[in-house]
Amino acid sequence: MSFRNFPMVPRVVFGRGSFNQLSEILEPKRLGDQAPFIFLVDDVFKGKDSLISRIPLKHKDKIIYISADEEPKTIYVDGIRDDIGKEFNEIPSGIIGIGGGTMLDYAKAVALMLSNPGSSADYQGWDLVKNQGVYHVGIPTISGTGAEVSRTTVLTGPERKLGMNSDYTPFDQVVLDPSLLEGVPKNQWFYTGMDCYIHCIESLTGTYLNAFSQSYGEKSLDLCREVYLEKDSIDEDSQDKLMMASWHGGMSIAYSQVGVAHAMSYGLSYLLGTKHGVGNCIVFDQLKEFYPEGVKEFKQMVDKHGIDIPKGLCKDLSDDEFNTMIDVALSLVPLWENALGKDWEKTITREKLRSMYELM
Ligand code: NAD
Ligand code: ZN
Repeated sequence: MSFRNFPMVPRVVFGRGSFNQLSEILEPKRLGDQAPFIFLVDDVFKGKDSLISRIPLKHKDKIIYISADEEPKTIYVDGIRDDIGKEFNEIPSGIIGIGGGTMLDYAKAVALMLSNPGSSADYQGWDLVKNQGVYHVGIPTISGTGAEVSRTTVLTGPERKLGMNSDYTPFDQVVLDPSLLEGVPKNQWFYTGMDCYIHCIESLTGTYLNAFSQSYGEKSLDLCREVYLEKDSIDEDSQDKLMMASWHGGMSIAYSQVGVAHAMSYGLSYLLGTKHGVGNCIVFDQLKEFYPEGVKEFKQMVDKHGIDIPKGLCKDLSDDEFNTMIDVALSLVPLWENALGKDWEKTITREKLRSMYELM
């Protein structure tokens, strides 16, 4: 038996206003006047001076705005890497992602691709990345995915939706400033926060559970309950707690695995481009057979906050389209094995998945 030797984020700063320390954090890492820091910033912040004016630009540093409307694709990652290569004579001092899971994943992937040849599609999988990436920093502005602590960057490539999972992927530095969560639309706050809730349920009820994952998962679940069941509004305390819930949820699945909701949500996302947070909610809503307690509590949270969970996504799909989703879902073997044990294939047939997708 061999145990995974898991890399962790070596440096993290937490606190309201900690974003203002960015210059202090970055300057010692600067490799020279010609080696810029590149900030990959969600374009939702374009023109929002309260954030943008606080990005400490010097020398050749540059902001690149990126839309979070679509999840990261390998071709976009390669394109950003190539543009940086053309514009600057030296390798950047660092890549800083500012935004949700989408920007965090772009930052990780671009940092890795600046020091690994070829296309990011060549590295979708486990431990395929050969060289350490450039210094990379993650600054979340919405909480739930756990991308700030994880060892992966999830990319959609020509052939698959799969992460670049490697020891080089985690951030070198994370800045957790809960005041950056200000302005997140309520539905999105819910969908992305539920990603965290679902990580906890899938981890805590899975067959891979162990004390490491349980300790983080239970804390994260408690925080999610405080945020989504006990509070009536999104106050500062709940922003602080959701940020830490996301962190702990990410730590929990690091050493266990996600489950049925994620496996099926990947199918929706691959075929229809459904985004991760809302996709997980659409699937989880139909999983009471697998997660009875979790789904009951989820529905309470949906009701309490008056959230709209989209329905009818699959009503007009062809047989081929259903089959594509089913293929994607079934390919995620460790997720099913975690959820249902070694004999998962006895219950999870193609027909079973089809009938479940038809409800969504
Ligand atoms: P996101 O980054 O896709 O952003 C969701 C929406 O919220 C966007 O419209 C964005 O513009 C907006 N937004 C973000 N911060 C805001 C703010 N402060 N104010 C106003 N609007 C704001 O959301 P997400 O759910 O955090 O990330 C989803 C992505 O994360 C997916 O691509 C998924 O694959 C990835 N993911 C990665 C991991 C990992 O471990 N690497 C884990 C889970 C999910
Ligand atoms: Zn997730």
